[in-house]
Amino acid sequence: MTENIPDNIKKEIEELVKDLNYHSYRYYVLDSPVISDAEYDKLYRKLKDLEEQYGYVLPDSPTQRVGAAPLDKFEKVRHTEPMLSLDNAFSYDEVREFDKRLKRLLGADKEIEYTVEPKYDGLAMELTYRKGLLYRASTRGDGYEGEDASQNIRTIRSVPLKIEGQTVPEEIDIRGEVYMNLDEFELLNKKREKSGEPLFANPRNAAAGSVRQLDPSITISRKLYLACYGLGAARGIRFGSQAEFIDWLRKGRFPTPAKVVIANGIDKAIDAIREIEESREDFPFETDGAVVKVNDFDLQRKLGTKTREPRWAIAYKFQAHQGTTRILDIQGSVGRTGVITPFAIFEPVGIGGVTVSRSTLHNWDEMERKDIRIGDTVVVERAGDVIPHVVAVVKEKRTGRERHYPVPEKCPACGSRVMREEGEVAVRCVSLHCPAQIREKIIHFTSRSGMDIEGLGEKNVELLYSKGLIKHFEDIYRLKKEDLLALPRFAEKSSQNLIDAIERSRHTTLARFLYAIGILHVGEYASKLLARNFRRLEDLYHVPPERFVSIKQLGEKIASSVSMFFDDAKNLKTLDTMKKLGLEIGNPDFADDKRGGAPLEGRTFVITGTLPKSRKEIEDLIESRGGHVSSAVSTQTDYLVVGEDPGSKLGKAESLSVKTITYDDLLKLIERSANPRLFD
Ligand SMILES: [Zn+2]
Repeated sequence: MTENIPDNIKKEIEELVKDLNYHSYRYYVLDSPVISDAEYDKLYRKLKDLEEQYGYVLPDSPTQRVGAAPLDKFEKVRHTEPMLSLDNAFSYDEVREFDKRLKRLLGADKEIEYTVEPKYDGLAMELTYRKGLLYRASTRGDGYEGEDASQNIRTIRSVPLKIEGQTVPEEIDIRGEVYMNLDEFELLNKKREKSGEPLFANPRNAAAGSVRQLDPSITISRKLYLACYGLGAARGIRFGSQAEFIDWLRKGRFPTPAKVVIANGIDKAIDAIREIEESREDFPFETDGAVVKVNDFDLQRKLGTKTREPRWAIAYKFQAHQGTTRILDIQGSVGRTGVITPFAIFEPVGIGGVTVSRSTLHNWDEMERKDIRIGDTVVVERAGDVIPHVVAVVKEKRTGRERHYPVPEKCPACGSRVMREEGEVAVRCVSLHCPAQIREKIIHFTSRSGMDIEGLGEKNVELLYSKGLIKHFEDIYRLKKEDLLALPRFAEKSSQNLIDAIERSRHTTLARFLYAIGILHVGEYASKLLARNFRRLEDLYHVPPERFVSIKQLGEKIASSVSMFFDDAKNLKTLDTMKKLGLEIGNPDFADDKRGGAPLEGRTFVITGTLPKSRKEIEDLIESRGGHVSSAVSTQTDYLVVGEDPGSKLGKAESLSVKTITYDDLLKLIERSANPRLFD
């Protein structure tokens, strides 16, 4: 196939791949890009177009990092040389012991040359390159057998798909650590908190969780890095020392540890450890120690391995930022999406220069697993900038007066009944009324797929919330232009625009509204299914879950969530208040003719005062559109059509909160309902 491709095109593709890989290297490995993201994207798109057009794709093309289909399971991979773990040292004395031991074994008193590098706290991997191309990437596993995570590791942009410009061995196994930077870790947890997913306890778990994804599109969405530091089996190349190997890696564009110090003698090595420990807070990643290795590979071979550890290396572990304190109280906090998370309040304790007085307990399962109780003495750890966490309970210190803190049955923020789904870790408050969730709920409510209220995005919702203008869900429909004009970001025009957008949203469809109010698990599709099966919003009130399950394609999870939502008296009150404030929910699925045959179907009107048309004409108009006209105002009345000089009906309507409209409003209502633009 490739022989039909013009040479100049081949050349262009090859050049593009070369350039793009170089720019990736500048960006992800050297952290010093020479072109902008936009320029990169432009080149990338050009390459992708040419590849598609001519079917000529190089194995190290950056387009080959993405697009793999999700796996069913990971294949097992046997490491050619076992990936051993390292012996630990917890003091400089132990590091000196290590040096003495080696000298004894070697039978010489000559100083040994070491390399010292920060220890990455991530997931150990082995990358196998065949003839210079990335062939496979596997996890460490038990050291002898790991899992093939090639398609996920390919998505990490600092991993070279090809070894660049130097002696390329027949085959080589390169060891390194996949890790997540602290910034990225915090960002990821914030996102997870927002979407109601359980948080990762530390960057290592986050990195491991991201690599062990069967779907590579999840891995690519997490920003992962790699640091290469070890040599496994190799054919067709020989290295004299660790320093030489690191140098080869760097020339081959592999990311290597942030610092590799060559130290002659153990004193120099300890100086290097100290230096790394002192600067540990400056690294963008988490490091929990420094690794000391014998530099000379011949010496390494001479020293050999013990059962599970090489004799020629040791990991010095930094003093963990730990402290012991007592739990004064445990409480639940409600996140913006309603997930209730336990947290502990401590007797304040200084850990690594910071006073710690509270920490999250992550989730209820974790709290139960560690058996954490109020009154317990606990070991608390803080690493880097990472939030503190409880490592363990000091059970010997228990007096018998410690108290369990049960999983709450009511939301600590609003007192509503909480929901815990079977097999789920998260405990949630699903109330519309919950002050902790009001901002998130309104942002969803006003979004384009929701009620589509332009001008009520995240920023303005935060503003209105902070000014006390939106305290409850229904407050959107209480906003007045004067309220907005008093705010910093609102001028005459923007205020009017927002009020108009809110006005427009008052007429909506049941499907759209069900999606907008944000019932747990109810997306756009489920909303439409519900609207096809229930004519009015009220028809969903107090319906047992079985009735929902009977709707085809609506799962049990959704059914119980919908049933619980519409069984909550406070939720129903909020919905009714919204309707009283002028919200009108139509359901085109139940109109006789979806293209406008009966837009007023099921609605009751009363007419009062002098109108532009005769009473009879108006009655005919309403009835021809499926509405019903009644002579007296009651709670069954949907609208009072008001003309000039209205009678006592107007007062009656106001006392019953019946919506009043003009003749023009009536025409608009018919027009709007007949054109359900809001419905697909
Ligand atoms: Zn609540």
